[in-house]
Amino acid sequence: MKIVSKIDFETFVNDLINEDYREVIGVQSKDSHYVFDELEKAEDLELNYDVTILPPKKYMMPQKEAILEYERSDKDFSLEPLLEIEPRIIIGIHPYDLIAIQQMDKIFSDTYEDEYYLNRRKKCVLIGVNMQNVSDRSFAASMGTATTETGYDLMLTNLEKNYAVEVGSSKGSDLLEEVTTRNASPEEVENVEKVKKNIEEKFDKELKFSPEELPTLLEENYGNMEFWEKNSEDCYSCGTCNLVCPTCYCFDMKDMNEITLDTGRRVRQWDGCMLEEFALVAAGENFREDRAERYRHRFMRKGRYIYNRYGDIACVGCGRCASQCIPDIADPSRIYNELKGE
Ligand code: SF4
Ligand code: SF4
Repeated sequence: MKIVSKIDFETFVNDLINEDYREVIGVQSKDSHYVFDELEKAEDLELNYDVTILPPKKYMMPQKEAILEYERSDKDFSLEPLLEIEPRIIIGIHPYDLIAIQQMDKIFSDTYEDEYYLNRRKKCVLIGVNMQNVSDRSFAASMGTATTETGYDLMLTNLEKNYAVEVGSSKGSDLLEEVTTRNASPEEVENVEKVKKNIEEKFDKELKFSPEELPTLLEENYGNMEFWEKNSEDCYSCGTCNLVCPTCYCFDMKDMNEITLDTGRRVRQWDGCMLEEFALVAAGENFREDRAERYRHRFMRKGRYIYNRYGDIACVGCGRCASQCIPDIADPSRIYNELKGE
């Protein structure tokens, strides 16, 4: 473990911004919320935030991206993948978001290697930060995601005038060579452990049982339509709970052709299973036409389907869905606790 003074860290970040060959992203305050956005100066970094509106996944899987373009003439047809990807450093990722990115890494390199996601991911350096403040809707401690030992290139812990820095990869150690550091003393190592332990006690919300029970609990309640109907009564099918979630990855593809059909682009953009048209297919068949079915699907997908396939519970407890849902019916901790109670 290394120690860097906050003054040196700020200079280091400003130097990175001025290098100008990679984008430097950091958590900043905007209109009384926190967001990941491009940094203009290190002083804008807000590493004591509680939660950001959107997770950092938008830098690996943008909301909308053109993935290829084509050109056609009488004799020729050319297709060009659009794979130009800017290197990035993302500063200030909380542990639950780092764990969500690790889940996405598995999914995008499973049966089909998604070169758009994976190229972006490879060109990102992830600098995590241990939480200093906790969102009042987060229940990350009970999901085991309030701290992490993996998924980062560097991990910062606030120690008053300094940051303790843990190195998670060779990308991280190479970057750390650009800043003045010293080895942490045994007392500082102990303080980092205390900070991590104390974070767990800051959460008001919790899942009242082990997340490992979720797949079975959900399997047993798949047919409990009374429960899903009652809880989804006020759902607007707006899809916000999908869009703000760090572990949602569904997308739609659209071909945007010029009217002449001589040129065009294939664009992919985020989609969400709570939207009414999500499971609509040709001939007008919709596999999840009812609101309650879509609502159930989202909770099944978080606590059961991804677990069955990858061994991960796909809710990291960030609480974003709960705080962004207007009728306040999207909170997985409430739904899962109620199901368990039943
Ligand atoms: S649960 Fe809430 S956020 Fe999700 S689709 Fe329904 S109304 Fe929108
Ligand atoms: S389901 Fe909600 S609480 Fe769980 S990871 Fe997604 S946004 Fe966060």
